[in-house]
Order: sequence, then structure tokens, then C-alpha cells
Amino acid sequence: MSLLADRTRAFDSSGIRKVFDLAAKMKDPINFSIGQPDFDVPDAVKEACIDAIRAGKNAYTVTQGLPALREKLQARIDQQYGHADRKLLVTSGTSGALSLVMWSLVDPGDEVLMFDPYFVMYPALTKLVGGVPVIIDTYPDFRLDLNKVADAITPRTKLILLNSPANPTGVVATEAEVRGLAALAKERNAILVSDEIYSSFSFDEPLASPAAYNDRTLVIDGFSKSHGMTGWRLGYVHGPAEIVETMTKLQQYTFVCAPQPVQWAGALAMDVPMDAYVADYNRKRDLIYSGLADKYEVVKPGGAFYIFPKAPRGSGTQFVTEAIENNVLIIPGTIFSRADTHFRIAFAAPDETIHRGIEVLRKLA
Ligand code: PMP
Repeated sequence: MSLLADRTRAFDSSGIRKVFDLAAKMKDPINFSIGQPDFDVPDAVKEACIDAIRAGKNAYTVTQGLPALREKLQARIDQQYGHADRKLLVTSGTSGALSLVMWSLVDPGDEVLMFDPYFVMYPALTKLVGGVPVIIDTYPDFRLDLNKVADAITPRTKLILLNSPANPTGVVATEAEVRGLAALAKERNAILVSDEIYSSFSFDEPLASPAAYNDRTLVIDGFSKSHGMTGWRLGYVHGPAEIVETMTKLQQYTFVCAPQPVQWAGALAMDVPMDAYVADYNRKRDLIYSGLADKYEVVKPGGAFYIFPKAPRGSGTQFVTEAIENNVLIIPGTIFSRADTHFRIAFAAPDETIHRGIEVLRKLA
């Protein structure tokens, strides 16, 4: 009998480990590797968390989440969608919500559609529950092709995972794409899961959510990116009551609840204006795109804080090695893809870092 369970083979971190081994040797790198905001949690939100801890609000909460947070979130969701059957669960980050979705909906052999490039967790979590990742190529423009989706759907298709704005490309799906996907999912009886963790970073137009066109859509969102709270682990999921109630039951036996002080802080965070932070990232997006567009084959990102250029020669991994030798830390696209042709820049970084990075990358092009 082997020590480790077979299911752990769903996770292969060798690629990213190689990059971080190389990175460990770098002194003061131009660091474009980190998928989190470079701003700190706003002071008022920190105070709310500290106040909660001092006031002894440190115990478990009910599994579904603190009423103080839930009521505000539910009001916002009801106002946005107006669905009679849209229920909410507060989770341990959006990662917690993604795990609960997989456990609740995917049986061994069920197919889960996802778009390549994809967020790293999608294929791994699918395989963890015995599901089969069905991967739809979106190169070179990273747009949703509804014909490809229609062709990929089979009677075993259980879920379709959409991530807009996307990690690692920054591409935002248009309203027409989202509406078409929502209709297709409804017609072919698949559940749409919309990972909207970057919802507040949609720079050019208001974000289109497929839940507006398909009331069976599960929406996943959270506070990690919007408020720089990645280490605090606060997310939420909403969708049809039957599914969300099952996820709540499973949370009771796994995560139990999101941290109580963080839930109080989240309730307050909903009233803290973050527009200036978003405007700043919009500007950084323009800065990095205009710095690279004439030298690299690259799609202009409409949201999130990533850009995904094509490596000018060799594989993405080879180019990343070269960039690291020149003190720029980027991530090979193959971490997020079956292809090894591109690289990810996370531009949630100080302007000075972006300027230095552009200079080196232009020389390497
Ligand atoms: N989905 C996507 C697309 C992400 O990029 C991330 C974070 N990198 C997550 C989910 C997980 O975020 P968290 O668990 O911090 O909410």
C-alpha cells in the first residue's frame, strides 16, 4: 500500500516549484509573480477586525455566516439579480467556495468544462473529486467561442467554469458572450459557475455576470482581491437554494465557518469606497500594456491585474528562465495552460517596479 492517497496525484506543483527555486536566489527581484493587490487592507477594515477581536467576537459563527454580513450581501445580491431562489453562503475565501462546489456537484466521471488558460485550481479540484476536466482552448485572443463550448458539451457535462475578469489573461467576457454562455448552459442542462473574484477590477465596462441571464448560475466572489484581504480568507457563493444548502451542510463538516472577526470586518468593508484603488490599477494596466504592446504579441487586459504576453522565442518556461536571469520574476503560462507559449505578469506592483520591468522586458523582446 502506498503512503499517499491516489487523489493527491491531482496536484503537480513541480513547474511552479522550479520557478520559485530559481526565484529564491534572486536579490531584490522585479517581482511580477504575486497574484494579490499591492495595497494593504484599508485602515477602517483593520480597525473593525481588531475591534471584533477585542470585543470577544472570536467564537465560531453559524456555518452560513454572520447575520451582520449576510444581510448586507444578500441585499446587494437581491438588488442585482432579483432572483427569488438565490441563497448565500459565506466561505473560507473563494477557494473554500470552489471546493464546496466540486464536492457538492461533481460525481466521478462527470465532466467539468473550463477555458484554457484557466485558474490553476480548476483542473486540480476537478480531478480531486474524480471529475474529468474538459479543456477549451481560447488562444490566441482568449475570447469565449460559443461554438467550441457547444461542441464540448456531452451528456456527462456537469459544470461550466467561467472566470471573468480572468486569471491569468485579464480578459473580460463581453455581455454578448456571457449571455450566450448562460443560454447554452440552460439549454444543455449544465450548471454554470462564475468565479467573479476580480469583479471589482473591470476597467472598461461594468462586469457582465451570467447569473443575470441564467438563474441557476452559481456566483463565487470574495474580499481577497477587492480589499487586499488575501490572508484573511473571506469569500462567498450564491445560487439556487438546493445547491447552496447542500454546500452549507458540507461546510459544517469541513471548514465550519469563516473566521468571525474577519466576517465583522467584511461587513464594514462593504461600505469602504475602493474606487481610487481600482482607478490606480486601471492606470497600471495602461502603463504595462503600452510598455509592451509594440514588442510583444499581447492581448489588452480589460480587468483583474494580469497581462499574458506570448514569449518572443522558445517556450514560455525558457523565456521565464531568461527573464529571471535578468532579475524579472514572471510566471510561465504552462502553470495555467496546456500550452507553454506565454507568461503571466501580475502588475499589482508599485509604478517604479512596472517601469523597471518594462525596460528589461523590452530589451529581452
Ligand atoms: N479564483 C481565481 C480566479 C483566483 O485568481 C483566486 C486567487 N488567486 C481565487 C479564486 C482564490 O481566491 P481566495 O481563495 O483568496 O478568495
